[in-house]
Amino acid sequence: MCGIFGYVGNKTNAATIVFEGLKRLEYRGYDSWGIAVVPTASEKSKVKSEKLINTIVVKKKTGKIGNANVNDMPSSSFAFGHTRWATHGGVTQTNAHPHLDCTGRIALIHNGIFENYEGIKKTLVKKGHRFTSETDTEVAVHLIEEYRKTMALAKAVQKAFNDMAGLNAIIVIDSDRNQLIAARNGSPLVIGFGHQENFLASDAAALLPHTKQVHFLEDDEMTIVGHKGIMIFDAKTGTKIAPKVQKLTWSTRQAEKGTYPYFMLKEIHEQPDIIADISETMISPAKRMTEVIRKSQGTYLVGCGTAGYACMAGSYLFSKVAKRHVNWAVGSEFGYQLNFLTKKSLVMALSQSGETIDILESVKKAKNNGASIVALVNVLGSSLYRMADHKTLIGAGPEKAVASTKAFTAKIAYLVLLAYGLAGKTKEGQTVLMHAVSSGKKVLSSLSLARIQKLASRLKNTEHIFVVGRGISYPASLETALKIKEISYIHAEGFAAGELKHGVIALVEKDTPCIVFAPNDEAYGANLAGAMEMKARGGFIVGISHKPHEVFDYYIPVDDACEATIIPNVIVGQLLAYYLAIEKGLDPDMPRNLAKSVTVK
Ligand code: GLU
Repeated sequence: MCGIFGYVGNKTNAATIVFEGLKRLEYRGYDSWGIAVVPTASEKSKVKSEKLINTIVVKKKTGKIGNANVNDMPSSSFAFGHTRWATHGGVTQTNAHPHLDCTGRIALIHNGIFENYEGIKKTLVKKGHRFTSETDTEVAVHLIEEYRKTMALAKAVQKAFNDMAGLNAIIVIDSDRNQLIAARNGSPLVIGFGHQENFLASDAAALLPHTKQVHFLEDDEMTIVGHKGIMIFDAKTGTKIAPKVQKLTWSTRQAEKGTYPYFMLKEIHEQPDIIADISETMISPAKRMTEVIRKSQGTYLVGCGTAGYACMAGSYLFSKVAKRHVNWAVGSEFGYQLNFLTKKSLVMALSQSGETIDILESVKKAKNNGASIVALVNVLGSSLYRMADHKTLIGAGPEKAVASTKAFTAKIAYLVLLAYGLAGKTKEGQTVLMHAVSSGKKVLSSLSLARIQKLASRLKNTEHIFVVGRGISYPASLETALKIKEISYIHAEGFAAGELKHGVIALVEKDTPCIVFAPNDEAYGANLAGAMEMKARGGFIVGISHKPHEVFDYYIPVDDACEATIIPNVIVGQLLAYYLAIEKGLDPDMPRNLAKSVTVK
């Protein structure tokens, strides 16, 4: 959630650099944005009045960046910006960040929730501070202003940051000095090292056009970033810390849309290549991981949203292929169910961003119980990645559409390899994945796309869609329904097909769209039976299957890919959701109310 981008260097178009940086962070989801610059000395001297001296120039807007620009901002070598995902105070221009202190000389941007802001605000108001917004964030900048009266700025920031309860990241600038002062606890921040210029961002992908040399700030690390040097220290003790510079492996091109109209469509199309890549290159990490799983007594898969459904699919795969019982849990609930974990337990946490706060919190608790942690994430250096005892990057490349697609299938591909690896059949696992690759490619052929788009045009005005399947098609149904909800705003429900008669079928009436997964597995007959039951109540049956059947009113063919058929099946679900959004004139990349990496509870 929320994007942060800061620049300090020798260029004089800092506002534009920050603005472009914010645009690369748009995918994280936000409702307003703002930029603050400290004008260059020559810019200040151009202005006769005292107005620009020691003043920070701020521009803030509600809504999306869209066609906005920052041509009206003064030239500057030092600026920062923020995309806000409101938690405290409505979506208004005043509540947007950056926030200024009473003098207008200190500006601050913030990601997270300043949990104890209320009491501190009361004290500051008594001391005469004037507040203009309803945010928790503004309290932090006035607190720094207060401390600044008796100490240096960096010390004031450190003291204020340590007073802030909750999971937060802040950056502070002062009109007197060209330095970004930042600290994090929970929310991500990355330093980018350039030549005669340095950067700060909430996401490494935003730094790619400028630098690949980065340091991921750890919890409770603070930094002072100048144009020639960087200092990192412990925010609690003040002890200096040497930067751990890492090289980013993603390319700028991977993080761009290319010829696709939306990131989501691009990411959907990338899936066959990613799966092929995983089947070729992930054998050794998968082997190492199978040893860890073998040694554990109790393995638990945890994830949120789409990653949660990948976990659920994993539990079916481990049972069927490896004859191994692996539990799965929703990340936000796992924290309440993990008291039984021991030193021998293994928690495999799945997350695209590696920043999902609900997962991080659960994993911390699991660690306290002594459990070992495996992270299966897409983002190098993310919090989950760094926290884990065993780390694996799923290699899906930057995923920018808010609704996750390729990270889901990449996780499934890796779980397929693990399940086959545990069964001592790695080669078979690779073959199965290659079937998923060719089946997925066929789903993405123009003929198949046209068929799915036609279905979307037929369903676009519907209010409810039901998606059902048994066995591993149950998580496929849940994931398809989630995609539809996320980006087309149509109410969609995924069910285990066997549950229909236990209640849900009461909702099926004439023409209710019912999507049925019926792959070539042990549940084929039972899935068809579910389709018949819904058809008997008037349902409009969409069959996703390796062969047509008379019960289907609309048929979408998906070639059998054995135990990995969930991959092409879910690609159909993703495409249907995508085309529903397009048919309804919605932006599939940036659905309302949602953010890409969910860094608040
Ligand atoms: N809690 C802050 C606000 O509502 C920060 C939100 C964010 O992380 O974007 O302004």
